[in-house]
Amino acid sequence: MLMISTFFVLGVVFGSFFHVIGQRVPVNESFLVGRSICRHCERTLNWYELIPVASFVLLRRKCGHCHHPISWTYPIIELLTGCLFAFSYQHIGFNLELLSALLLVSLLIIVLVSDLQYMLIPNSILFYFLLLFIFLQMQITHISIWNNILGGITGFAIIAVIILLSQGGMGGGDMKLFGLLGFILGIKKVLFALFLSSIIGAIIGTGYLLLAKIELKEPIPFSPFIVIGTMISFYYGDMFLNWYGSFLR
Ligand SMILES: [Zn+2]
Repeated sequence: MLMISTFFVLGVVFGSFFHVIGQRVPVNESFLVGRSICRHCERTLNWYELIPVASFVLLRRKCGHCHHPISWTYPIIELLTGCLFAFSYQHIGFNLELLSALLLVSLLIIVLVSDLQYMLIPNSILFYFLLLFIFLQMQITHISIWNNILGGITGFAIIAVIILLSQGGMGGGDMKLFGLLGFILGIKKVLFALFLSSIIGAIIGTGYLLLAKIELKEPIPFSPFIVIGTMISFYYGDMFLNWYGSFLR
């Protein structure tokens, strides 16, 4: 329990950092230098305003200076990362594969922040994570990485076909993201992740359209569904695929 709590706290702290990365990288701001500022009055935040989750609660979700409301995305992203870090540790245990799971969570959280705020997925983020995963894959399996490479090509190609057929709905960022996810998950699991994200996206998207009565042309960010689909496929993909395979025999 102590270890799970530790990973939760670690996730909350990293989640706060990922929020900064997802918010700054798309607009070419450095995420390593420069203290965070209030996005409204541009005042540099004090140390006590930078504590994940706690600051949000203590400041009653307002900037201490200009009283502009602080976005709900901060505590949600921090708590979500905390939960996913804790779950990853509980599910995998302490080994090299855990590092791969935590990196995947990190990638998805940064992509989520960036996509929700700017509707784009920065190339540089995808590129650095690809390098990290290639390095990690070489440490985990000393045999071929063909499943990863084929998974990457499959993920990339399928989204490319969807873009050509649908003319909109998905963009180049999704295509590159699924290429990377394919490399991480392998062929079967990336297909399952795409299947799940599309189903969940279609159900929630339809419900949203019916409830909010928004214009059909207004784009709904796809990344929340990619995060859910990928996480389920990563942890339970083998189980589902075995279960499905037992019907075919
Ligand atoms: Zn302010």
